[in-house]
Amino acid sequence: MEPFQIVEQTNTLRLGDWEQRCPGLVVGFTLRSGGYSEAPFHSLNLGLHVGDSPERVRKNRERLCQALGFPFDAWTCAEQVHGTTVRQVTATVRGAGRAQQETAVPAVDGLYTDEPGILLTSFYADCVPLFFLDPQKRVIGLAHAGWKGTVGGIAAVMLQALADSYGCTPSSLLVAIGPAIRGCCYEVDERVMEHVRRLPCDWEACVRAAGAGRYMLDLAALNQQILLEAGVRSSMISRSHYCTACHPELFFSHRRDAGRTGRMASFIGWKAKGVTSQS
Ligand SMILES: [Zn+2]
Repeated sequence: MEPFQIVEQTNTLRLGDWEQRCPGLVVGFTLRSGGYSEAPFHSLNLGLHVGDSPERVRKNRERLCQALGFPFDAWTCAEQVHGTTVRQVTATVRGAGRAQQETAVPAVDGLYTDEPGILLTSFYADCVPLFFLDPQKRVIGLAHAGWKGTVGGIAAVMLQALADSYGCTPSSLLVAIGPAIRGCCYEVDERVMEHVRRLPCDWEACVRAAGAGRYMLDLAALNQQILLEAGVRSSMISRSHYCTACHPELFFSHRRDAGRTGRMASFIGWKAKGVTSQS
């Protein structure tokens, strides 16, 4: 069953299971519709780094915050460099990057926190969004995994960071893998495959040959294998079936749109006490 459900009023896909299990938790992934941006960023582009008008991106972000019931000040994001560094977010970092790319948490592809009133966000147009939740310790995290981050093991880096910072064990965590380009549309070459083959997990389940030196790679499935190898229980992992390249009406896709396109956002946050939901 698809773990992400479309909520049309907010132009988002929501992890209904997690939100029902944890009152006050808001978690999901945006759709491309319902924003102010013009082509080729039409219309809910949430990336400030893609050449869109910063005013429109800000309006799009503010609209999403309002729809989710968070103040814009809570929006916190990182610079994303296809690396494997993750960082803890505390009140002093809250709001980083919300209106200007220059103030984003620098050179980081994963953010995590246990503080309420912070909306963690990260940006996508095919890469794999990873969501982390320890429901007992109320720890949440997001990680951005393109092919470099995936083979670099950002999923496992996040698990280690959550263990070091909060004592979370892999077996206590829920992990969700959001919409991303899938094996139907993501062709890679030997340059990528030589890294994939070195992974100490069942990577062969995630690849099929597509002619001389060409392969169709399912990065979402590969992240799932890495998470299983790191000790996350299979029953605790939810994986979306949506392919961003297959659904131009729902998603931006870097590969499909030849690089000139907008960005969806993944988001996760605990509502601050006393804030009521509008979504
Ligand atoms: Zn596809």
